[in-house]
Amino acid sequence: MANVSIQLKTPITGEYKQPTGLFINNEFVEGAKKQTFEVINPTTEEVICSVHEATEEDVDTAVAAARKAFEGEWRRVTPQQRGALLLKLADLVEKNLDLLAAVESLDNGKSISMARGDVGGVAGCIRYYGGWADKIEGKTIDISPDMFHYTRREPIGVCGQIIPWNFPLLMLAWKISPALATGNTIVMKTAEQTPLSALVFASLVKEAGFPPGVLNIISGFGKTAGAALSAHMDVDKIAFTGSTLIGRTIMKAAASSNLKKVTLELGGKSPNIVFNDADIEEAISWVNFGIYYNHGQCCCAGSRIYVQEGIYDKFVAAFKDRALKNKVGDPFHPETFQGPQVSQLQYDRIMGYIQSGKEQGATVVTGGDRHGDKGYFIQPTIFADVSQEMKIMQEEIFGPVAAIAKFKDEADAIRLGNDTAYGLAASVHTKDLNTAIRVSNGLKAGTVWVNCHNMLNHALPFGGFKSSGIGRELGELALDNYTEHKSVAINMAGKLF
Ligand code: ADP
Repeated sequence: MANVSIQLKTPITGEYKQPTGLFINNEFVEGAKKQTFEVINPTTEEVICSVHEATEEDVDTAVAAARKAFEGEWRRVTPQQRGALLLKLADLVEKNLDLLAAVESLDNGKSISMARGDVGGVAGCIRYYGGWADKIEGKTIDISPDMFHYTRREPIGVCGQIIPWNFPLLMLAWKISPALATGNTIVMKTAEQTPLSALVFASLVKEAGFPPGVLNIISGFGKTAGAALSAHMDVDKIAFTGSTLIGRTIMKAAASSNLKKVTLELGGKSPNIVFNDADIEEAISWVNFGIYYNHGQCCCAGSRIYVQEGIYDKFVAAFKDRALKNKVGDPFHPETFQGPQVSQLQYDRIMGYIQSGKEQGATVVTGGDRHGDKGYFIQPTIFADVSQEMKIMQEEIFGPVAAIAKFKDEADAIRLGNDTAYGLAASVHTKDLNTAIRVSNGLKAGTVWVNCHNMLNHALPFGGFKSSGIGRELGELALDNYTEHKSVAINMAGKLF
């Protein structure tokens, strides 16, 4: 019997059974090459366990399982039954909320309170799309009395899905829910830094009663398993969330293989614009949450903060006080807001950006260093007087580093806000409704928040303008990513026209 699970412990749950195999055909299995890789605890820098690694052969096996399910048993499951399966899965996620959240904190380093919020969001997202499953409708189109025309929305087929490590379970839910609701089958590759929570989730997929092969979840690396999935000739669609760099690679792989459909949710450098008339206390709370939530590891992090001249000095001083109140430390402490960054590599990248900010002459208002002496912790960092061409204002840092600059007026705010290759999100803080609407209209971003930030919901579409991606996730729009529209034309005249 293959060794595909291990007993692990978290401070919340005590001992639990952690699956470590590849989840293919509703079973946990070893990889073809019997390779494993280590999973690191970012809080202690120690090895948590090893999991089985998918290589190209395993991707083939998983895709074959998904194909068989798609052409076979899953096709005979009615939309209503698909919805019921998703609702059952959402219930199981809620029933196991403590375990899933604890595994997420252990593996990713996010605070347990945020991990609980994430898992609540996972259940909500799955349930929302469970509701959509039997509401996928076509149209009849009246063209001629001798013809009958209608459209059908059909599942695309086998979907490859590749997710990052910043919200391991939530990104999984955003991807699998619309795909399953619309009748597709899936091979999901999780991020190599954070495979554990998805494997616990996988056991719930089986418990919920999904047929074998419908949802396969594999752990593995991008260059091997990820590349094999995105270039696979029998994968009909690839959905990716991650860096813009790898998004381009995925699109090339899709183009040069079978022209599979592509959706991409990529990086960001979102502006957070604070006008003189904003409620400054409230604005600071949202700006703080906008950049430091999830340790700055959010594609929509409000990392460029533009403050109008009249309140600039007051804002910078008060923001510093607020940032210093963020509790940094053990993710399992109930009051912790910021845990460690996910990996040594991310830690090094972020520290490199901090160094470049210092070298390019930005003012360090607070932070700028490691926090503590163990784990990948970084102090909440604020740079002020950052000019537009500095690296920390241009590039996605993906860490707890805020860059602040001044702006003069509305036109200046819009110009600066749009001065980026990205266009994922933005926020505006003002009491003036007209300013809020004009600036929201002027910003080239997929989401604009007014007097808030990071307020995502599974019912509201999310995605990027410009280099931040292609397509929209969440809401009704995500159903389009997973359905083909078919037009059927029936000749009722029984003769050649
Ligand atoms: P990060 O730099 O934050 O880790 P990436 O975009 O590199 O972000 O990774 C996001 C996801 O993309 C991960 O699951 C990773 O394994 C995967 N990935 C990385 N490189 C490739 C690739 N060449 N092809 C397919 N997937 C990849």
